Amino acid sequence: MAQRILIDMVKMRKALSENPGIDLPEAIYYNGINDNGLKTLRELATFRFSCRKCEDAPCIAACPAEALEKDTDGIISRYTNLCISCKSCVTICPFGTMMTDFFKHHRNRDLLYDLTDSNELEKFIKACPAGTITLVDEDEKPAEHLYRLNERILIREYLYSTEKE
Ligand code: SF4
Ligand code: SF4
Repeated sequence: MAQRILIDMVKMRKALSENPGIDLPEAIYYNGINDNGLKTLRELATFRFSCRKCEDAPCIAACPAEALEKDTDGIISRYTNLCISCKSCVTICPFGTMMTDFFKHHRNRDLLYDLTDSNELEKFIKACPAGTITLVDEDEKPAEHLYRLNERILIREYLYSTEKE
């Protein structure tokens, strides 16, 4: 098995807060046909792991374009073709879980990498802030805040929980 690609969401947020104007490179990873609009790995990871999955989901109510919905697992999903990049969802989110920069109308295609291609992966790692993307021999390890997004991608994020440890 090839090494897994670790996307460190904690370091990504830090890089973005230190340089609010930067255009962070984005990546996709699709094996097969995607029929759900283009979703970057950072967006998928944000809604799956960073989002606190509010029961009343104020982000959905605030969206003027009806571009957000909860899927059957309670995870927010954005219709990228409906989203008008108003960022109302970002403003209303009480937890600031969303990185504002992925709600963009016109992505810089030069900064979009397909990680199923090893050359693109190499370029993506070089283009991202140092230490945010690494290749590792790890698997999911909740005790170390590592979670699987898919077979090849690991995400490092602090999950919100109301349960006592
Ligand atoms: S940025 Fe997009 S998803 Fe968010 S509220 Fe605006 S239209 Fe809806
Ligand atoms: S308001 Fe924020 S934390 Fe709550 S469901 Fe929406 S994105 Fe997630």
